[in-house]
Amino acid sequence: MEPLKIATTRPELLCACGAVFIHPDDERYRGYAGKKAKVPLFDFEVPIIESPTAQMDFGTGALMVCSYGDMADVMAFRDFALKPIAAISPDGTMTEAAGKYAGLPVAEARKRIIEDLKKKGLLFKQEPTIQRVPLCWRSKTPIEFIAMDEFYLKQTEFVDKMLEIANNTRFFPPFHRQILIDWINRVSVDWPISRRRYYGTEIPVWYCNACGEAVVPEPGELRYYQPWRENPPFDKCPKCGASEGFRGEERTFDTWMDSSISGLYIIGYLRDEELFKKAFGNVIRPQGKEIVRTWLYYSLLRTYQLLGEPAFKEVWVSGHVVDEKGEKMSKSRGNSPPPGPFIEKYGADAMRLFGVLEAGLGSDIRFSEERLGGVARFMTKLWNIARFISMFPIPERMDFKDLTPVDQWILAETNKMLETITPECEVLDFHKPAIELRRFAWSFFADHVLEMLKGRAFNSDGQFSELVQQSAWFVLHEVLKVILKALAPMTPFITDSIYRELYNKKGIHREQYPIPVDEWKSELSGLTDLVLQTNSAFWRFKRENNISLRQGLPEAYIPKSLRPWEADLKAMHGIEKLGFGSPTTNGFHEVPIYESGGKDSLFVRFPSSSEE
Ligand SMILES: [Zn+2]
Repeated sequence: MEPLKIATTRPELLCACGAVFIHPDDERYRGYAGKKAKVPLFDFEVPIIESPTAQMDFGTGALMVCSYGDMADVMAFRDFALKPIAAISPDGTMTEAAGKYAGLPVAEARKRIIEDLKKKGLLFKQEPTIQRVPLCWRSKTPIEFIAMDEFYLKQTEFVDKMLEIANNTRFFPPFHRQILIDWINRVSVDWPISRRRYYGTEIPVWYCNACGEAVVPEPGELRYYQPWRENPPFDKCPKCGASEGFRGEERTFDTWMDSSISGLYIIGYLRDEELFKKAFGNVIRPQGKEIVRTWLYYSLLRTYQLLGEPAFKEVWVSGHVVDEKGEKMSKSRGNSPPPGPFIEKYGADAMRLFGVLEAGLGSDIRFSEERLGGVARFMTKLWNIARFISMFPIPERMDFKDLTPVDQWILAETNKMLETITPECEVLDFHKPAIELRRFAWSFFADHVLEMLKGRAFNSDGQFSELVQQSAWFVLHEVLKVILKALAPMTPFITDSIYRELYNKKGIHREQYPIPVDEWKSELSGLTDLVLQTNSAFWRFKRENNISLRQGLPEAYIPKSLRPWEADLKAMHGIEKLGFGSPTTNGFHEVPIYESGGKDSLFVRFPSSSEE
């Protein structure tokens, strides 16, 4: 048989060769599979194996598989149960396995081996090539795979249990459960938990100087050990009984080894039994989607291993903040401004609410300073609403039936808003509720209700009875409280500040989240749009005719169905004489209520100063 020609970029790994792979469809190597190949210079034999991982158009098509050559080699050794040979030592020199090249740095060994291959006439071709080599991010030197003994945590035997827990844990939003399922399905080896780095949680293990036994402190000794610098809390080896001292472990844990039990720590595991009893099994895990495979998965794994139960009932997974074009933020691209200055400028509440307003739970949020600025203006609006309402006393609780029909209608609108947001709040997605709350607080409550109730709440010329004035006060405070409580999870600071100032020194976050109130119903609800459009028509009329919004109107007619609003609309628009339907005399200006057309109209008489 013809000798096999092999192209390699790592001739120094000849001594670590474990097999030669050929593609099953490669006609050039018919009959080679199952035979042995002799490794040049080292004179040992390796099997020739058919594998689709050999690429026919790469090099000669025959692939030299060397221990720890690259990730593919590592996998190949694992797949075919080949016995690896370590050719490179941790200090970057060749090991004894390299024979006469032992002790040489890798690059030097490569040079010598090429020379020797040439001398023996075994080198058939040498050419420069471009290849990808993993480099150390800090020193930029090539990274070598070096086999080392490490601590592993068992996980392969927990795969079925983890899948069961993943399927039984409630996810918000449900579609992010798949990240976890996919990850669990890819688990194929146990979890290496020891790391050779300086900064990390120390592994509390000492090794007996006499027999090498790994000894750990007794469980229950709740303290943190640094074995590399302190003596163990025991002086006899439990295995051999020797008192010849111990060598402290120098490695640290993988960062997820202890962050995976941070959830347990927080609820008092092994520290506060009472708290732990109350909290375990009743916690939700809020976190980002990028650490589902790490923080969430390892938390579930370790909690199950420690306690035999799922760590959480519910998991709440948020998306990422991406740039305005939807691209991932990264330092190197320069599209990831630090959030600090924005929080400083617009406020932490605005920043949070911006995130809620921009995307549904679990979806990515496109950052835009302009839109953040818009949210900050809403925060200012909320503050101004509260400041305005704070001018009025908070009356004793009033029965719904004792409120004016308009005030009942306002509470009914509030109830409609609560009915809209409740289903979304129940699945912990505040995106649509935030949009609805902003509309309700700004476009309905501030723009219409405050303007409408202003006259009655001030009652400066005493035209309203004390009872209907109090009704206005009660409703203004009642609705403000609902808005504050409903916004509290999204804008915790401003709502708490207002709430403490006006309603309860203990703060807003001890209050129940508002839910719909069955009693808050009004038959006037069907007229809401007509009322709002009527207000807009009055404002439009004044604006288009250069009449100040504060200026009154001598006489106007509005649709008959709006009779329940008579007193409040008169006060709101400064109408001296308000009629319903169509006027029977001349001198009125007709204003269509709906800009898009429709039959409803206002009829307005111009103020004397601007009479046509
Ligand atoms: Zn011992």
